[in-house]
Amino acid sequence: MNLKTFLLDLLFPPKCTFCENLLERSGRLTCPDCQRTLPWLEGEAAETRVEFAARCVSPLRYQDSVRKSVQRFKFSGRRWYAKTYGTLLSQCVQDHLAGEYDLITWVPVSAKRRRERGYDQSQLLAKELGERLALEPVELLQKPRDNPAQSGLKDAAQRRANVLGAYTAPWPGRLAGKRVLLVDDVVTTGETLSECARTLRMAGAENVVCVTLARAKQ
Ligand SMILES: [Zn+2]
Repeated sequence: MNLKTFLLDLLFPPKCTFCENLLERSGRLTCPDCQRTLPWLEGEAAETRVEFAARCVSPLRYQDSVRKSVQRFKFSGRRWYAKTYGTLLSQCVQDHLAGEYDLITWVPVSAKRRRERGYDQSQLLAKELGERLALEPVELLQKPRDNPAQSGLKDAAQRRANVLGAYTAPWPGRLAGKRVLLVDDVVTTGETLSECARTLRMAGAENVVCVTLARAKQ
C-alpha cells in the first residue's frame, strides 16, 4: 500500500459496496461475508430471456443487500460503486458472453433524469465494464422522452406500452452489422432491454446480447 492510499483510507475508510461494513484491506470492494453469501447466479441460472436479444445474463439476484446497494448507487449518489459492479459485470461477461459482441453500449436515462441525478448509472457501468474488457463503450441509444419509471407499473401490458418507442438509435452508422453488448443495472420483466434491443436491431445491429448487474425474481 502506498502513502496516498494509506492516507485516503484513513480519511475515507473503504466500505463494502453491499453491506457497508468497513473493509479491513484496501483494494477489496466486497467484504468476505458478502463474497460468500450474496445471491450469486451461476451457470444457466444467470440467464434470462429477453425478446429481441439473443441472451441476457446477470451475476446477482436483485434482493436484500444487492437491492439496497443498487438503490444507494442510483438514488444516494454512490457513483463509485460502479467500480465494484464493473468487476462483477466483466466476470459475468467473460464467463457467458465471450466472443459474442463487437461493441458495448448502455440503456440511457433521459436528459432530464440525468440532470436530476447528475449521472447516468448504466453509462458508468458500461464505462467500468469497458475498461476491464479493453473496449471503449459507444453511445448508440438515446431516450428523448421522460416516461414514468417502470418500477411504478405492475402490469406487463402497461410496462410494455410505457417503453414502446421510448428509445431512439440516432447513429445507425456506428452499429450497422455489429453485435452489440447492452448494459443495464437491473432486469425485471425485461421490457426495457427488449425495447432497446428492438431499437438497435431496427437500426441495423446484427445481434444484441445483454448483461445487467442484477436480476429481479423471474
Ligand atoms: Zn459486505
